[in-house]
Amino acid sequence: MNLLQIRKMMLFTAQRMVESEPELTALDQIVGDGDHGIGMKRGFASIIELLQDEKFQPTDIGDFFIKIGTKLMTSMGGASGAIFGTLFRTGGKSIVGTMELNSEVFAKFLNDGWQGVYQRGNAEPGDKTMVDALSAASKSANELTHLTLNEALPIIAKSAMEGAEKTKQMIAVFGRAKNLGDRTIGHMDPGAVSMAFILKYMNDYIH
Ligand code: ADP
Ligand code: MG
Ligand code: MG
Repeated sequence: MNLLQIRKMMLFTAQRMVESEPELTALDQIVGDGDHGIGMKRGFASIIELLQDEKFQPTDIGDFFIKIGTKLMTSMGGASGAIFGTLFRTGGKSIVGTMELNSEVFAKFLNDGWQGVYQRGNAEPGDKTMVDALSAASKSANELTHLTLNEALPIIAKSAMEGAEKTKQMIAVFGRAKNLGDRTIGHMDPGAVSMAFILKYMNDYIH
């Protein structure tokens, strides 16, 4: 995928994320403080604006994702603004100079993005956060670099969704959700669902 194709894919993804607000809000009302849907909606609405601005001309794919991350960070606020912003910024930094997104580049983006998220927030897999979806996606991507991005993305997106599903059984130890303890069992973490949705919508766009 070249820069123009990625730009279109991210526009589609951002539009679907905005539409997912009610679902994400409902989850955060159970597992957190109820603002996750609104935060994601605000963040991705500003991504739509950015992508529709003709003056936005990133130099390469890394630069593109860095600027997406910065925009999320500055528009969203809250824990997830920092976390999702860091994912795109750190992932982007590791692929600066790249002009073509393939499965290998995407695996690098996810892996280094996950590293960045860990350095920022210290959440490990099993802590009931977006890391449960992101780490599942990263691991899956690492095993699929021999495939084309078209072939790999559906599998990566599915892994992320399975990672999000697994958060149902977990007890939150981070963010607002940690105060709710046992009450969060049986429900997915909203940030994990957002992470899985982002990859699902990217995949929906290219298929
Ligand atoms: P807030 O917790 O400030 O209300 P949101 O509701 O927007 O922010 O986002 C909550 C989500 O952020 C959680 O569902 C979780 O997935 C993610 N999150 C919170 N803390 C961390 C962390 N330390 N590392 C990774 N993800 C985190
Ligand atoms: Mg919240
Ligand atoms: Mg909050």
